[in-house]
Amino acid sequence: MSERFPGWRELPKGAVSPKSSIEYKTGDWGVEKPGIDLGRCTQCTLCHFFCPEGAITISEDGHPEVGMDYCKGCGVCAEECPVKCIEMVRKR
Ligand code: SF4
Ligand code: SF4
Repeated sequence: MSERFPGWRELPKGAVSPKSSIEYKTGDWGVEKPGIDLGRCTQCTLCHFFCPEGAITISEDGHPEVGMDYCKGCGVCAEECPVKCIEMVRKR
């Protein structure tokens, strides 16, 4: 006879954030931040989609903007930018 595992309704709650992630700021985690050369940016928006923190928004004119309250300095955006116009720079 096979063992019965509990269904998800029977499991105790865990790892559930009681608040919105908007209130969970990750901007003070990193030592680097992205510097974007907007003159070379093609406005492809890939950095926006790849950023794991949702820190990059796209302005009305199509340029990426980094929200420093949430950027944790991971460098994913710089790695994924197809024209390599993002350089990680040390925070002051
Ligand atoms: S460094 Fe990481 S967290 Fe910051 S904007 Fe780039 S992908 Fe997002
Ligand atoms: S990935 Fe690079 S080229 Fe594309 S929008 Fe972001 S900064 Fe611009």
